[in-house]
Amino acid sequence: MSSGCFLIISCIQCSWSGQQLFEVSHTAMIGEKYVVDLDKQECSCRKWAITSIPYCHAITVIRFLNLNAEDYLPHWFLKSTYEETYLSLIYPVNGPHLWEMTSYADVLPPAKRVLPGRPKKK
Ligand SMILES: [Zn+2]
Repeated sequence: MSSGCFLIISCIQCSWSGQQLFEVSHTAMIGEKYVVDLDKQECSCRKWAITSIPYCHAITVIRFLNLNAEDYLPHWFLKSTYEETYLSLIYPVNGPHLWEMTSYADVLPPAKRVLPGRPKKK
């Protein structure tokens, strides 16, 4: 978590509304309040839903409950998922002089197409 996020979190108050519902308000901006539902992993500002990463409102609630914010990250952001993805072996490849030759013509890249109009200055 960045230090900027800690600065934002220190300016946010959190109050428990019941079950896993919380009301979060910015101390600097009067009237700016958001509802955080920890069970549904939703915040009324919708930034948690857009990024899937707990935003400062959710992190304030998570810290209020003395929970770990990393437990609310989706599994695709975890290091263990990354390691599991790249766990399988990537087979080595021989150089082109050992490749099997075919009777077909080599595949070459397409010819460069000159677009109409005046060329751009660099
Ligand atoms: Zn929010």
